[in-house]
Amino acid sequence: MPWCDPCDRFFNPNTLHQDGTCPQCGTKIATVVADQSAWRSVPWHFWLVVASLVSYLGWRAVQGFVWVLAQF
Ligand SMILES: [Zn+2]
Repeated sequence: MPWCDPCDRFFNPNTLHQDGTCPQCGTKIATVVADQSAWRSVPWHFWLVVASLVSYLGWRAVQGFVWVLAQF
């Protein structure tokens, strides 16, 4: 739900202008509209980084778990 500070109210994303500005005061408030298009335009190598980061952290979690078990 995009919140407009100058108008002090919430707006339905569908009532916003195409560029995500407030229909009453023109302030750029859209997070939902912008996020949807930004989400699709995320480059593929971003997901590569995310995937490698997740697998790395997962591997470190396994290592930490093994280390904890080794202490007993
Ligand atoms: Zn406004």
